[in-house]
Amino acid sequence: MCQSHASNDAAPKLVDVSKMPRRDVVRALAGGSLVLVAPACAPNPVTGRSQLILVDEAQLNQMALQAWAQERQQNRVWNNAAQQARLERVGRRIAQATGRTDLQWEFVVFDRQEANAYVLPGGKVGFYRGIMELAETDDQLATVMGHEAGHVTGRHAAERYSREVAQNAALQAAGAAINSQVAMAALGLGAQVGLSLPFSRAQESEADIIGLNYMHSANYDVRQAITFWGRMAQQGGNRPPQFLSTHPDPASRIGEMRAYINQRGWGPV
Ligand SMILES: [Zn+2]
Repeated sequence: MCQSHASNDAAPKLVDVSKMPRRDVVRALAGGSLVLVAPACAPNPVTGRSQLILVDEAQLNQMALQAWAQERQQNRVWNNAAQQARLERVGRRIAQATGRTDLQWEFVVFDRQEANAYVLPGGKVGFYRGIMELAETDDQLATVMGHEAGHVTGRHAAERYSREVAQNAALQAAGAAINSQVAMAALGLGAQVGLSLPFSRAQESEADIIGLNYMHSANYDVRQAITFWGRMAQQGGNRPPQFLSTHPDPASRIGEMRAYINQRGWGPV
């Protein structure tokens, strides 16, 4: 993505798009008057991978706050103090391992049967009752938590959002505004708000690997990642379609995680 950004025959105009209103970025891109430069294409601070980032992190976190408030309004919190405390305990330990203690992390278990979890930019983490019950130990819960935290530090929502902005700019005439529903979907609320714009397979794999590193830093047993995803795979047909649409097949990710754990000498698994 970063290799194929807009270019212009005229002398490049160096613009910090992260400081521009989104609408102006779209106009400029569509009109061909904007050349994207750093910080639009920046190495990811965790992975080093080059990413197209057209949105300011603080701005995205602000949007996520609204979405989070909406989520909390529309879903009942699970009335189980022990499980809420458990998620909080694991969440804090993983958040510490990310080094992003500047973020306002929040961890909530919602009273829903599905084995699902999600994260919003800025560290708002929602787990469903179903996935709390599936994770037998804190180590297994840390597997999911590490993965979700990996989406945050991997800046996956910002990357997905930027891709949407760029694609819209390419497709639409100058002056077209980004549909706010697309923005919401890009935040990762596809399943929740009835719109689906899942993370890419590459982002999911990246979150898995980042998550294993956080597990290890936080002194969780990384081998239990394999146990957990095995349990998820066994669930088979019990997994809701929304989980399948937003996450890769558990069986296929197990192989990659196993190889990574063994390569790092954290196994054998
Ligand atoms: Zn994911």
